[in-house]
Amino acid sequence: MRNLRAPVSMASVKWTFRQPLALAPVPLLTLVVFWAGQHLWVVAGVVLVQAGWLVMGLRAPQPEAPLRPGYPRLTDIETVQRLLPSGDAVEGDGLRGAALALLLDEAETIRGRHGSRYTEALMHELGHRLGQALREQDAYCRVGPAGFGIALFPQRHLELSAVLAVAHRIQAQLGQSFTYESVTVWPSISVGFCLSPRAAQLNGIGMLDAAAQAAERAQRAGPGGLYSYSAVDLPSRLSGEQQAALRHALETGEICAHFQPQLCTRTGQVSGLEALARWEHPDDGLIPPARFIPTIEAAGLSARLAERMLRDALAMLKRLDTLGIVVPNVAINLSGPELRNPQLADEITWELDRHDLPASRLVIEILETVVADSDDDIMVRNIARLSGMGCGIDLDDFGTGHAAIANIRRFAVGRLKIDRSFITNLHQDKERQRMVSAILSMAGQLELGTVAEGVESEAELALVAQLGCGHAQGFAIARPMPGAELPRWLRENARAAGQTAVPLGAPAS
Ligand code: C2E
Ligand code: CA
Ligand code: CA
Repeated sequence: MRNLRAPVSMASVKWTFRQPLALAPVPLLTLVVFWAGQHLWVVAGVVLVQAGWLVMGLRAPQPEAPLRPGYPRLTDIETVQRLLPSGDAVEGDGLRGAALALLLDEAETIRGRHGSRYTEALMHELGHRLGQALREQDAYCRVGPAGFGIALFPQRHLELSAVLAVAHRIQAQLGQSFTYESVTVWPSISVGFCLSPRAAQLNGIGMLDAAAQAAERAQRAGPGGLYSYSAVDLPSRLSGEQQAALRHALETGEICAHFQPQLCTRTGQVSGLEALARWEHPDDGLIPPARFIPTIEAAGLSARLAERMLRDALAMLKRLDTLGIVVPNVAINLSGPELRNPQLADEITWELDRHDLPASRLVIEILETVVADSDDDIMVRNIARLSGMGCGIDLDDFGTGHAAIANIRRFAVGRLKIDRSFITNLHQDKERQRMVSAILSMAGQLELGTVAEGVESEAELALVAQLGCGHAQGFAIARPMPGAELPRWLRENARAAGQTAVPLGAPAS
Protein backbone atom coordinates (compact mmCIF):
# COMPACT_ATOMS: atom_id res chain seq x y z
CA MET A 1 0.00 0.00 0.00
CA ARG A 2 1.14 3.51 -0.77
CA ASN A 3 2.38 5.46 2.23
CA LEU A 4 -0.48 7.94 2.54
CA ARG A 5 0.82 9.65 5.64
CA ALA A 6 3.54 12.23 5.70
CA PRO A 7 7.01 10.68 5.98
CA VAL A 8 7.26 9.65 9.64
CA SER A 9 9.96 6.96 9.30
CA MET A 10 10.13 3.87 11.51
CA ALA A 11 13.59 5.00 12.68
CA SER A 12 12.20 8.20 14.05
CA VAL A 13 9.48 6.29 15.86
CA LYS A 14 12.13 4.03 17.53
CA TRP A 15 14.18 7.01 18.66
CA THR A 16 11.10 8.37 20.34
CA PHE A 17 11.02 5.34 22.59
CA ARG A 18 14.79 5.46 23.26
CA GLN A 19 14.69 8.98 24.55
CA PRO A 20 13.22 8.19 27.99
CA LEU A 21 15.27 4.96 28.11
CA ALA A 22 18.49 7.00 27.81
CA LEU A 23 17.72 8.62 31.13
CA ALA A 24 16.50 5.47 32.90
CA PRO A 25 19.93 4.25 34.30
CA VAL A 26 20.75 7.64 35.87
CA PRO A 27 19.34 6.93 39.39
CA LEU A 28 21.12 3.52 39.51
CA LEU A 29 24.50 4.98 38.47
CA THR A 30 24.16 7.78 40.97
CA LEU A 31 23.83 5.14 43.74
CA VAL A 32 26.98 3.42 42.40
CA VAL A 33 28.86 6.74 42.71
CA PHE A 34 27.90 7.05 46.40
CA TRP A 35 28.93 3.40 47.04
CA ALA A 36 32.28 3.96 45.32
CA GLY A 37 33.06 6.86 47.72
CA GLN A 38 36.51 8.28 47.09
CA HIS A 39 37.23 6.19 43.97
CA LEU A 40 37.41 9.24 41.74
CA TRP A 41 38.11 7.29 38.57
CA VAL A 42 34.79 5.44 39.03
CA VAL A 43 32.96 8.79 39.51
CA ALA A 44 34.56 10.24 36.37
CA GLY A 45 33.65 7.15 34.29
CA VAL A 46 30.05 7.17 35.49
CA VAL A 47 29.64 10.90 34.75
CA LEU A 48 31.00 10.34 31.24
CA VAL A 49 28.59 7.45 30.58
CA GLN A 50 25.61 9.52 31.85
CA ALA A 51 26.63 12.45 29.65
CA GLY A 52 26.91 10.16 26.62
CA TRP A 53 23.47 8.72 27.20
CA LEU A 54 22.00 12.17 27.64
CA VAL A 55 23.57 13.44 24.44
CA MET A 56 22.28 10.40 22.53
CA GLY A 57 18.82 10.94 23.95
CA LEU A 58 18.79 14.63 23.05
CA ARG A 59 20.14 14.00 19.58
CA ALA A 60 17.38 11.50 18.76
CA PRO A 61 15.28 12.91 15.93
CA GLN A 62 11.99 14.41 17.12
CA PRO A 63 8.94 12.69 15.68
CA GLU A 64 6.81 14.70 13.26
CA ALA A 65 3.52 16.12 14.39
CA PRO A 66 1.00 15.74 15.96
CA LEU A 67 2.47 18.77 17.66
CA ARG A 68 0.45 18.03 20.72
CA PRO A 69 -0.45 14.38 21.34
CA GLY A 70 -4.15 13.72 20.66
CA TYR A 71 -4.49 16.63 18.21
CA PRO A 72 -4.32 16.69 14.41
CA ARG A 73 -1.47 18.36 12.63
CA LEU A 74 -1.32 21.95 11.56
CA THR A 75 1.11 21.39 8.74
CA ASP A 76 2.03 22.54 5.24
CA ILE A 77 -0.07 22.20 2.12
CA GLU A 78 2.13 19.45 0.58
CA THR A 79 1.58 17.20 3.61
CA VAL A 80 -2.16 17.76 3.42
CA GLN A 81 -2.10 16.88 -0.28
CA ARG A 82 -0.05 13.74 0.37
CA LEU A 83 -2.64 12.50 2.87
CA LEU A 84 -5.35 12.50 0.21
CA PRO A 85 -5.65 9.29 -1.83
CA SER A 86 -5.00 9.49 -5.55
CA GLY A 87 -7.30 7.94 -8.18
CA ASP A 88 -5.30 4.67 -8.37
CA ALA A 89 -5.24 4.29 -4.59
CA VAL A 90 -9.02 4.76 -4.54
CA GLU A 91 -9.48 1.95 -7.04
CA GLY A 92 -6.79 -0.32 -5.70
CA ASP A 93 -7.38 -0.09 -1.98
CA GLY A 94 -11.00 0.99 -1.88
CA LEU A 95 -9.97 3.88 0.34
CA ARG A 96 -12.02 7.04 0.43
CA GLY A 97 -10.54 10.36 1.32
CA ALA A 98 -12.05 13.78 1.60
CA ALA A 99 -10.59 17.23 1.14
CA LEU A 100 -12.24 20.21 2.78
CA ALA A 101 -11.52 23.87 2.19
CA LEU A 102 -12.62 26.57 4.61
CA LEU A 103 -12.97 30.26 3.92
CA LEU A 104 -13.52 32.90 6.55
CA ASP A 105 -16.55 34.91 5.37
CA GLU A 106 -16.22 38.68 5.20
CA ALA A 107 -12.45 38.39 5.75
CA GLU A 108 -11.79 41.61 3.86
CA THR A 109 -14.41 43.49 5.87
CA ILE A 110 -12.88 42.25 9.12
CA ARG A 111 -9.42 43.24 7.93
CA GLY A 112 -10.63 46.66 6.80
CA ARG A 113 -12.46 47.31 10.05
CA HIS A 114 -10.10 45.82 12.64
CA GLY A 115 -6.74 45.60 10.85
CA SER A 116 -4.32 42.87 9.79
CA ARG A 117 -3.09 42.08 13.31
CA TYR A 118 -6.62 41.41 14.46
CA THR A 119 -7.35 39.21 11.43
CA GLU A 120 -4.14 37.27 11.95
CA ALA A 121 -5.04 36.70 15.63
CA LEU A 122 -8.46 35.51 14.53
CA MET A 123 -6.98 33.11 11.95
CA HIS A 124 -4.60 31.79 14.60
CA GLU A 125 -7.51 31.11 16.95
CA LEU A 126 -9.53 29.50 14.15
CA GLY A 127 -6.55 27.22 13.45
CA HIS A 128 -6.53 26.26 17.12
CA ARG A 129 -10.29 25.56 17.13
CA LEU A 130 -9.92 23.57 13.93
CA GLY A 131 -7.34 21.40 15.63
CA GLN A 132 -9.93 20.56 18.27
CA ALA A 133 -12.69 19.87 15.74
CA LEU A 134 -10.66 17.31 13.75
CA ARG A 135 -9.28 13.90 14.59
CA GLU A 136 -5.67 13.11 15.35
CA GLN A 137 -4.90 11.43 12.01
CA ASP A 138 -6.32 14.29 9.93
CA ALA A 139 -4.08 17.09 8.71
CA TYR A 140 -4.75 20.73 7.98
CA CYS A 141 -2.93 23.80 6.77
CA ARG A 142 -3.41 27.49 6.18
CA VAL A 143 -4.34 28.37 2.61
CA GLY A 144 -4.21 31.97 1.48
CA PRO A 145 -4.85 34.86 3.84
CA ALA A 146 -8.19 33.63 5.16
CA GLY A 147 -8.54 29.93 4.49
CA PHE A 148 -7.63 26.42 5.57
CA GLY A 149 -7.23 23.15 3.70
CA ILE A 150 -8.00 19.85 5.39
CA ALA A 151 -7.35 16.21 4.51
CA LEU A 152 -9.50 13.70 6.36
CA PHE A 153 -7.53 10.53 6.96
CA PRO A 154 -8.50 8.02 4.21
CA GLN A 155 -10.81 5.24 5.28
CA ARG A 156 -12.57 2.37 3.61
CA HIS A 157 -16.05 3.54 4.59
CA LEU A 158 -15.82 7.30 4.60
CA GLU A 159 -19.44 8.22 3.90
CA LEU A 160 -20.92 11.50 2.84
CA SER A 161 -22.81 11.73 6.15
CA ALA A 162 -19.49 11.58 8.04
CA VAL A 163 -18.02 14.40 5.94
CA LEU A 164 -21.15 16.50 6.41
CA ALA A 165 -20.97 15.91 10.16
CA VAL A 166 -17.33 17.11 10.19
CA ALA A 167 -18.27 20.19 8.13
CA HIS A 168 -21.14 21.08 10.47
CA ARG A 169 -18.95 20.55 13.53
CA ILE A 170 -16.26 22.82 12.08
CA GLN A 171 -18.79 25.55 11.25
CA ALA A 172 -20.25 25.37 14.77
CA GLN A 173 -16.91 25.36 16.62
CA LEU A 174 -15.18 27.99 14.52
CA GLY A 175 -18.31 30.15 14.60
CA GLN A 176 -18.03 30.80 18.35
CA SER A 177 -17.41 34.42 19.27
CA PHE A 178 -13.82 35.69 19.20
CA THR A 179 -12.55 38.58 21.32
CA TYR A 180 -9.16 40.24 20.91
CA GLU A 181 -8.13 43.63 22.24
CA SER A 182 -11.72 44.13 23.49
CA VAL A 183 -13.21 43.69 20.00
CA THR A 184 -15.59 40.76 19.50
CA VAL A 185 -16.59 39.17 16.21
CA TRP A 186 -18.69 36.10 15.36
CA PRO A 187 -16.76 34.46 12.56
CA SER A 188 -18.68 32.63 9.88
CA ILE A 189 -17.07 29.91 7.80
CA SER A 190 -17.95 28.64 4.34
CA VAL A 191 -16.97 25.06 3.62
CA GLY A 192 -16.39 23.28 0.32
CA PHE A 193 -15.57 19.61 0.15
CA CYS A 194 -14.62 16.91 -2.30
CA LEU A 195 -15.05 13.21 -1.61
CA SER A 196 -12.63 11.00 -3.51
CA PRO A 197 -15.17 8.89 -5.45
CA ARG A 198 -16.48 12.18 -6.88
CA ALA A 199 -13.06 12.95 -8.20
CA ALA A 200 -11.63 9.57 -9.12
CA GLN A 201 -9.21 11.12 -11.60
CA LEU A 202 -7.95 13.74 -9.21
CA ASN A 203 -4.88 13.37 -7.07
CA GLY A 204 -4.48 15.08 -3.72
CA ILE A 205 -3.60 18.39 -5.34
CA GLY A 206 -6.70 18.21 -7.52
CA MET A 207 -8.93 17.24 -4.60
CA LEU A 208 -7.82 20.17 -2.52
CA ASP A 209 -8.31 22.50 -5.50
CA ALA A 210 -11.74 21.03 -6.10
CA ALA A 211 -12.66 21.59 -2.46
CA ALA A 212 -11.37 25.18 -2.75
CA GLN A 213 -13.59 25.75 -5.82
CA ALA A 214 -16.55 24.37 -3.89
CA ALA A 215 -15.70 26.66 -0.94
CA GLU A 216 -15.74 29.69 -3.23
CA ARG A 217 -19.19 28.68 -4.43
CA ALA A 218 -20.33 28.03 -0.87
CA GLN A 219 -19.15 31.48 0.10
CA ARG A 220 -20.97 33.13 -2.80
CA ALA A 221 -24.18 31.44 -1.66
CA GLY A 222 -23.25 32.03 2.00
CA PRO A 223 -22.37 33.31 4.55
CA GLY A 224 -21.85 30.00 6.29
CA GLY A 225 -22.36 28.14 3.00
CA LEU A 226 -21.63 24.48 2.41
CA TYR A 227 -21.00 23.09 -1.06
CA SER A 228 -19.85 19.83 -2.55
CA TYR A 229 -17.55 19.71 -5.56
CA SER A 230 -18.98 18.08 -8.63
CA ALA A 231 -17.06 17.04 -11.75
CA VAL A 232 -19.84 18.55 -13.87
CA ASP A 233 -19.77 21.97 -12.23
CA LEU A 234 -19.84 24.82 -14.67
CA PRO A 235 -16.87 27.12 -14.81
CA SER A 236 -17.34 29.69 -12.10
CA ARG A 237 -15.54 32.62 -13.67
CA LEU A 238 -17.89 35.55 -14.09
CA SER A 239 -17.00 39.19 -13.82
CA GLY A 240 -17.58 40.77 -10.43
CA GLU A 241 -20.07 43.13 -12.05
CA GLN A 242 -22.18 40.28 -13.48
CA GLN A 243 -22.19 38.52 -10.14
CA ALA A 244 -23.19 41.67 -8.29
CA ALA A 245 -26.06 42.29 -10.74
CA LEU A 246 -27.40 38.75 -10.26
CA ARG A 247 -27.08 38.95 -6.50
CA HIS A 248 -28.88 42.27 -6.48
CA ALA A 249 -31.68 40.91 -8.70
CA LEU A 250 -32.16 37.91 -6.40
CA GLU A 251 -32.14 40.00 -3.25
CA THR A 252 -34.50 42.72 -4.44
CA GLY A 253 -36.98 40.32 -6.05
CA GLU A 254 -36.31 41.49 -9.62
CA ILE A 255 -35.79 37.76 -10.16
CA CYS A 256 -38.99 36.22 -8.85
CA ALA A 257 -41.56 33.52 -9.42
CA HIS A 258 -44.35 33.68 -11.97
CA PHE A 259 -47.03 31.01 -11.73
CA GLN A 260 -48.62 28.69 -14.26
CA PRO A 261 -51.74 26.76 -13.19
CA GLN A 262 -52.28 23.04 -13.67
CA LEU A 263 -55.78 21.57 -14.05
CA CYS A 264 -57.20 18.26 -12.96
CA THR A 265 -58.55 16.82 -16.23
CA ARG A 266 -61.39 15.06 -14.42
CA THR A 267 -62.85 18.05 -12.61
CA GLY A 268 -61.44 21.03 -14.50
CA GLN A 269 -60.38 22.48 -11.13
CA VAL A 270 -56.94 23.89 -10.52
CA SER A 271 -54.87 21.09 -9.01
CA GLY A 272 -51.57 22.94 -8.62
CA LEU A 273 -49.23 25.70 -9.73
CA GLU A 274 -45.75 25.64 -11.19
CA ALA A 275 -43.45 28.45 -10.09
CA LEU A 276 -41.27 29.59 -13.00
CA ALA A 277 -38.41 32.05 -12.62
CA ARG A 278 -38.55 35.42 -14.38
CA TRP A 279 -36.23 38.41 -14.28
CA GLU A 280 -38.29 41.56 -14.33
CA HIS A 281 -35.39 43.69 -15.54
CA PRO A 282 -35.84 47.45 -15.07
CA ASP A 283 -34.28 48.22 -18.50
CA ASP A 284 -34.58 45.00 -20.53
CA GLY A 285 -38.12 43.95 -19.55
CA LEU A 286 -39.14 40.37 -18.77
CA ILE A 287 -36.24 37.95 -19.20
CA PRO A 288 -37.02 34.20 -19.48
CA PRO A 289 -35.11 31.71 -17.30
CA ALA A 290 -33.19 30.17 -20.19
CA ARG A 291 -31.32 33.47 -20.50
CA PHE A 292 -30.21 33.85 -16.90
CA ILE A 293 -30.28 30.45 -15.13
CA PRO A 294 -27.01 29.21 -16.73
CA THR A 295 -25.34 32.44 -15.55
CA ILE A 296 -26.76 31.97 -12.07
CA GLU A 297 -25.32 28.46 -11.99
CA ALA A 298 -21.97 29.66 -13.27
CA ALA A 299 -21.93 32.31 -10.56
CA GLY A 300 -22.58 29.67 -7.90
CA LEU A 301 -25.87 31.34 -6.97
CA SER A 302 -28.17 28.35 -7.59
CA ALA A 303 -28.92 27.98 -3.90
CA ARG A 304 -29.98 31.64 -3.78
CA LEU A 305 -32.32 31.16 -6.75
CA ALA A 306 -33.86 28.06 -5.15
CA GLU A 307 -34.33 30.01 -1.93
CA ARG A 308 -36.03 32.90 -3.74
CA MET A 309 -38.34 30.58 -5.72
CA LEU A 310 -39.22 28.56 -2.62
CA ARG A 311 -40.07 31.67 -0.64
CA ASP A 312 -42.14 33.20 -3.44
CA ALA A 313 -43.96 29.90 -4.02
CA LEU A 314 -44.83 29.30 -0.37
CA ALA A 315 -45.75 32.94 0.22
CA MET A 316 -48.13 32.74 -2.79
CA LEU A 317 -49.79 29.59 -1.46
CA LYS A 318 -50.20 31.15 1.95
CA ARG A 319 -51.71 34.27 0.44
CA LEU A 320 -54.21 32.21 -1.58
CA ASP A 321 -55.15 30.31 1.60
CA THR A 322 -55.79 33.63 3.32
CA LEU A 323 -57.95 34.75 0.40
CA GLY A 324 -59.92 31.49 0.63
CA ILE A 325 -58.78 30.30 -2.82
CA VAL A 326 -58.09 26.58 -2.78
CA VAL A 327 -54.94 25.47 -4.55
CA PRO A 328 -53.62 22.10 -3.35
CA ASN A 329 -49.92 22.62 -4.05
CA VAL A 330 -47.16 24.58 -5.74
CA ALA A 331 -44.20 23.11 -7.62
CA ILE A 332 -40.68 24.50 -7.81
CA ASN A 333 -37.98 23.43 -10.27
CA LEU A 334 -34.66 22.33 -8.81
CA SER A 335 -31.64 21.86 -11.04
CA GLY A 336 -28.64 19.58 -10.49
CA PRO A 337 -26.53 22.16 -8.59
CA GLU A 338 -29.50 23.08 -6.41
CA LEU A 339 -30.14 19.43 -5.60
CA ARG A 340 -26.51 19.08 -4.61
CA ASN A 341 -26.83 21.63 -1.82
CA PRO A 342 -26.30 19.54 1.32
CA GLN A 343 -28.51 21.91 3.33
CA LEU A 344 -31.43 21.80 0.89
CA ALA A 345 -33.80 19.61 2.91
CA ASP A 346 -33.14 21.62 6.10
CA GLU A 347 -33.73 24.90 4.30
CA ILE A 348 -37.00 23.64 2.80
CA THR A 349 -38.18 22.33 6.20
CA TRP A 350 -37.41 25.70 7.72
CA GLU A 351 -39.30 27.64 5.04
CA LEU A 352 -42.32 25.32 5.29
CA ASP A 353 -42.38 25.85 9.06
CA ARG A 354 -41.99 29.59 8.66
CA HIS A 355 -45.02 29.67 6.34
CA ASP A 356 -46.85 27.16 8.51
CA LEU A 357 -47.51 24.87 5.53
CA PRO A 358 -47.27 21.05 5.48
CA ALA A 359 -44.69 19.44 3.17
CA SER A 360 -47.50 17.86 1.14
CA ARG A 361 -48.27 21.29 -0.35
CA LEU A 362 -44.88 21.54 -2.00
CA VAL A 363 -43.88 19.64 -5.13
CA ILE A 364 -40.28 19.39 -6.30
CA GLU A 365 -39.77 19.10 -10.06
CA ILE A 366 -36.64 17.24 -11.05
CA LEU A 367 -35.53 16.82 -14.63
CA GLU A 368 -35.64 13.26 -15.90
CA THR A 369 -32.07 13.68 -17.14
CA VAL A 370 -30.88 14.47 -13.60
CA VAL A 371 -32.48 11.31 -12.22
CA ALA A 372 -31.21 9.23 -15.15
CA ASP A 373 -27.57 10.25 -14.73
CA SER A 374 -27.39 10.51 -11.01
CA ASP A 375 -25.40 8.33 -8.71
CA ASP A 376 -24.70 11.39 -6.60
CA ASP A 377 -25.14 10.56 -2.92
CA ILE A 378 -26.11 14.10 -1.92
CA MET A 379 -28.85 14.25 -4.54
CA VAL A 380 -30.18 10.83 -3.62
CA ARG A 381 -30.19 11.79 0.06
CA ASN A 382 -31.88 15.14 -0.60
CA ILE A 383 -34.63 13.71 -2.76
CA ALA A 384 -35.20 10.78 -0.39
CA ARG A 385 -35.47 13.20 2.54
CA LEU A 386 -37.84 15.53 0.71
CA SER A 387 -40.16 12.74 -0.35
CA GLY A 388 -39.90 11.23 3.16
CA MET A 389 -41.05 14.57 4.58
CA GLY A 390 -44.14 14.41 2.35
CA CYS A 391 -43.15 16.69 -0.58
CA GLY A 392 -44.39 15.53 -3.98
CA ILE A 393 -41.70 14.61 -6.53
CA ASP A 394 -42.52 15.24 -10.21
CA LEU A 395 -40.25 13.92 -12.95
CA ASP A 396 -39.99 16.85 -15.38
CA ASP A 397 -39.64 16.56 -19.19
CA PHE A 398 -40.47 12.87 -18.93
CA GLY A 399 -39.70 10.92 -22.09
CA THR A 400 -36.51 12.84 -22.91
CA GLY A 401 -34.10 11.48 -20.36
CA HIS A 402 -34.11 7.65 -20.18
CA ALA A 403 -34.65 7.35 -16.43
CA ALA A 404 -34.58 3.71 -15.38
CA ILE A 405 -37.66 2.43 -13.57
CA ALA A 406 -35.35 1.50 -10.69
CA ASN A 407 -34.34 5.18 -10.38
CA ILE A 408 -37.98 6.32 -10.56
CA ARG A 409 -38.61 4.06 -7.55
CA ARG A 410 -35.38 5.02 -5.80
CA PHE A 411 -36.19 8.73 -6.01
CA ALA A 412 -39.76 8.09 -4.82
CA VAL A 413 -41.21 9.92 -7.84
CA GLY A 414 -44.94 10.60 -7.47
CA ARG A 415 -45.84 11.96 -10.94
CA LEU A 416 -44.50 11.93 -14.47
CA LYS A 417 -44.66 15.25 -16.34
CA ILE A 418 -44.93 14.18 -19.96
CA ASP A 419 -42.65 16.37 -22.04
CA ARG A 420 -44.09 18.99 -24.37
CA SER A 421 -42.57 17.25 -27.43
CA PHE A 422 -45.08 14.38 -26.98
CA ILE A 423 -48.04 16.73 -26.55
CA THR A 424 -47.55 19.21 -29.40
CA ASN A 425 -49.99 18.29 -32.21
CA LEU A 426 -50.99 15.17 -30.31
CA HIS A 427 -54.46 15.22 -31.86
CA GLN A 428 -52.96 15.03 -35.38
CA ASP A 429 -50.23 12.48 -34.79
CA LYS A 430 -51.13 8.81 -34.20
CA GLU A 431 -47.55 7.84 -33.34
CA ARG A 432 -47.45 10.42 -30.55
CA GLN A 433 -50.82 9.21 -29.29
CA ARG A 434 -49.42 5.67 -29.07
CA MET A 435 -46.37 6.91 -27.13
CA VAL A 436 -48.45 8.97 -24.71
CA SER A 437 -50.79 5.99 -24.19
CA ALA A 438 -47.75 3.79 -23.46
CA ILE A 439 -46.40 6.29 -20.92
CA LEU A 440 -49.82 6.58 -19.26
CA SER A 441 -50.20 2.83 -19.04
CA MET A 442 -46.72 2.45 -17.52
CA ALA A 443 -47.53 5.20 -15.03
CA GLY A 444 -50.75 3.38 -14.15
CA GLN A 445 -48.88 0.12 -13.54
CA LEU A 446 -46.38 1.94 -11.32
CA GLU A 447 -49.21 3.84 -9.57
CA LEU A 448 -47.74 7.19 -10.59
CA GLY A 449 -49.75 10.33 -11.34
CA THR A 450 -49.35 12.12 -14.69
CA VAL A 451 -49.26 15.70 -15.99
CA ALA A 452 -49.19 16.69 -19.65
CA GLU A 453 -47.15 19.86 -20.17
CA GLY A 454 -47.13 22.27 -23.06
CA VAL A 455 -50.82 21.79 -23.84
CA GLU A 456 -51.38 24.58 -26.35
CA SER A 457 -54.81 23.94 -27.84
CA GLU A 458 -58.29 22.87 -26.75
CA ALA A 459 -57.95 19.83 -29.02
CA GLU A 460 -54.75 18.71 -27.25
CA LEU A 461 -56.35 19.33 -23.87
CA ALA A 462 -59.39 17.23 -24.72
CA LEU A 463 -57.23 14.40 -26.05
CA VAL A 464 -54.80 14.17 -23.09
CA ALA A 465 -57.84 14.05 -20.83
CA GLN A 466 -59.45 11.32 -22.94
CA LEU A 467 -56.28 9.24 -22.98
CA GLY A 468 -56.35 9.30 -19.18
CA CYS A 469 -53.70 11.84 -18.22
CA GLY A 470 -54.50 13.12 -14.72
CA HIS A 471 -53.44 16.76 -15.02
CA ALA A 472 -52.65 19.28 -17.73
CA GLN A 473 -50.61 22.47 -17.98
CA GLY A 474 -50.01 24.79 -20.89
CA PHE A 475 -50.91 27.92 -22.80
CA ALA A 476 -54.37 26.45 -23.56
CA ILE A 477 -55.12 26.84 -19.86
CA ALA A 478 -52.98 29.86 -18.98
CA ARG A 479 -49.55 31.32 -19.56
CA PRO A 480 -47.25 31.80 -16.56
CA MET A 481 -48.36 35.00 -14.82
CA PRO A 482 -47.08 37.28 -12.06
CA GLY A 483 -48.29 36.50 -8.54
CA ALA A 484 -50.31 39.72 -8.46
CA GLU A 485 -52.53 38.51 -11.33
CA LEU A 486 -53.03 34.99 -10.03
CA PRO A 487 -55.91 35.41 -7.52
CA ARG A 488 -58.14 37.03 -10.13
CA TRP A 489 -57.39 34.32 -12.70
CA LEU A 490 -58.04 31.58 -10.16
CA ARG A 491 -61.37 33.07 -9.10
CA GLU A 492 -62.51 33.36 -12.70
CA ASN A 493 -61.44 29.82 -13.49
CA ALA A 494 -63.24 28.48 -10.41
CA ARG A 495 -66.38 30.27 -11.54
CA ALA A 496 -66.07 28.87 -15.08
CA ALA A 497 -65.30 25.34 -13.82
CA GLY A 498 -68.28 25.53 -11.45
CA GLN A 499 -70.54 26.59 -14.30
CA THR A 500 -69.27 23.95 -16.69
CA ALA A 501 -69.00 21.19 -14.04
CA VAL A 502 -68.29 18.83 -16.93
CA PRO A 503 -65.10 16.80 -16.96
CA LEU A 504 -62.65 17.67 -19.71
CA GLY A 505 -62.46 14.05 -20.82
CA ALA A 506 -62.50 10.46 -19.62
CA PRO A 507 -61.94 9.74 -15.91
CA ALA A 508 -58.29 9.95 -14.96
CA SER A 509 -56.19 9.15 -11.98
P1 C2E B 1 -39.98 23.57 -17.60
O1 C2E B 1 -39.83 23.24 -16.17
O2 C2E B 1 -40.25 22.45 -18.54
O3 C2E B 1 -41.10 24.66 -17.63
C1 C2E B 1 -42.08 24.71 -18.58
C2 C2E B 1 -41.72 25.70 -19.62
O4 C2E B 1 -42.64 25.59 -20.70
C3 C2E B 1 -41.85 27.12 -19.12
O5 C2E B 1 -40.89 27.89 -19.82
C4 C2E B 1 -43.24 27.53 -19.57
O6 C2E B 1 -43.39 28.91 -19.73
C5 C2E B 1 -43.28 26.84 -20.90
N1 C2E B 1 -44.64 26.52 -21.28
C6 C2E B 1 -45.71 26.32 -20.50
N2 C2E B 1 -46.79 26.02 -21.23
C7 C2E B 1 -46.38 26.03 -22.52
C8 C2E B 1 -47.05 25.77 -23.76
O7 C2E B 1 -48.21 25.48 -23.82
N3 C2E B 1 -46.30 25.87 -24.88
C9 C2E B 1 -45.00 26.20 -24.86
N4 C2E B 1 -44.35 26.29 -26.01
N5 C2E B 1 -44.32 26.43 -23.70
C10 C2E B 1 -45.02 26.34 -22.55
P2 C2E B 1 -39.96 28.84 -19.02
O8 C2E B 1 -40.70 29.46 -17.92
O9 C2E B 1 -39.28 29.67 -20.04
O10 C2E B 1 -38.95 27.83 -18.36
C11 C2E B 1 -38.06 27.13 -19.13
C12 C2E B 1 -37.30 26.19 -18.27
O11 C2E B 1 -36.47 26.91 -17.33
C13 C2E B 1 -38.18 25.35 -17.39
O12 C2E B 1 -38.69 24.32 -18.13
C14 C2E B 1 -37.24 24.93 -16.31
O13 C2E B 1 -36.45 23.84 -16.76
C15 C2E B 1 -36.35 26.15 -16.18
N6 C2E B 1 -36.80 26.91 -15.03
C16 C2E B 1 -37.80 27.79 -14.94
N7 C2E B 1 -37.87 28.28 -13.68
C17 C2E B 1 -36.90 27.68 -12.96
C18 C2E B 1 -36.46 27.76 -11.61
O14 C2E B 1 -36.98 28.48 -10.77
N8 C2E B 1 -35.39 26.99 -11.26
C19 C2E B 1 -34.80 26.15 -12.14
N9 C2E B 1 -33.80 25.42 -11.72
N10 C2E B 1 -35.19 26.04 -13.41
C20 C2E B 1 -36.23 26.79 -13.82
CA1 CA C 1 -40.79 22.23 -14.68
CA1 CA D 1 -40.96 20.53 -18.32
